[in-house]
Amino acid sequence: VPIRENIRLKSRREIDKLRESGRLAANALRVAARAAKPGVSLLELDKLAEQYIRAQGGTPNFKGYHGFPGTLCTSVNDRVVHGIPTDYILQEGDVLAIDCGAKLDGWHGDTCLTVGVGQVSEASRRLIDTTRRAMEIGVEHCRVGLRLGDMSSAVQTFAEAEGYSVVREYIGHGIGRDLHEDPQVVFADQRPGTGFRMEVGMAFTIEPILNVGGPRCVVEKDGWTVRTADGQLSAQFEHAVALTKEGTLILSLPDPEFEL
Ligand code: MG
Ligand code: MG
Repeated sequence: VPIRENIRLKSRREIDKLRESGRLAANALRVAARAAKPGVSLLELDKLAEQYIRAQGGTPNFKGYHGFPGTLCTSVNDRVVHGIPTDYILQEGDVLAIDCGAKLDGWHGDTCLTVGVGQVSEASRRLIDTTRRAMEIGVEHCRVGLRLGDMSSAVQTFAEAEGYSVVREYIGHGIGRDLHEDPQVVFADQRPGTGFRMEVGMAFTIEPILNVGGPRCVVEKDGWTVRTADGQLSAQFEHAVALTKEGTLILSLPDPEFEL
């Protein structure tokens, strides 16, 4: 197994560009997340995010990607990832994962979070909070000199100790001038000390997906939307990170006024 396939290392200047596109995606994501209330449709959220991105001079990079129709991926309850924004009206208690991407000045941003719509059950709240924490643990294990398996096993060990499963088929990725670059960033079934070694100049996403039930997923008839095979809830959070000489930077931080 090659340690490094085709990983394009970024200069400090390029990492700063990625921070700008990441911030745009993070702000747009929160524009949508704030509007995610009972009675609002997924398409309305999608429109808000697209308008924000275009008003800032960016483009929605998911839209048209292999034919994907949305600016956002909106995955409700047992939907896992790649949910197409439809006229579905959000209901009190829904668990909504929103993934948002933006391209700015040739560089890509990609970030995701999960919110409860209105009041959610205790079980849903715990899934959301645990998934956020799993992502943060992943980010905390992104440091020059560590390996993929060090990060991945930390995420999986935490998630499973909390009683959740980690989805295998949908993984993180390098990010740069392309939305999806090497390396592939998996969140399960890796041993510490194995996998690619993290180096200065790498930029990639940490985006674990946790399921209440089993990890297995199925793709719906629309060819995009993925749901859990057992119909139980799923949640996801995603940050993009970059490794620099000065330390690890989170690329997908919003401006303070956009914080939820
Ligand atoms: Mg994403
Ligand atoms: Mg991603």
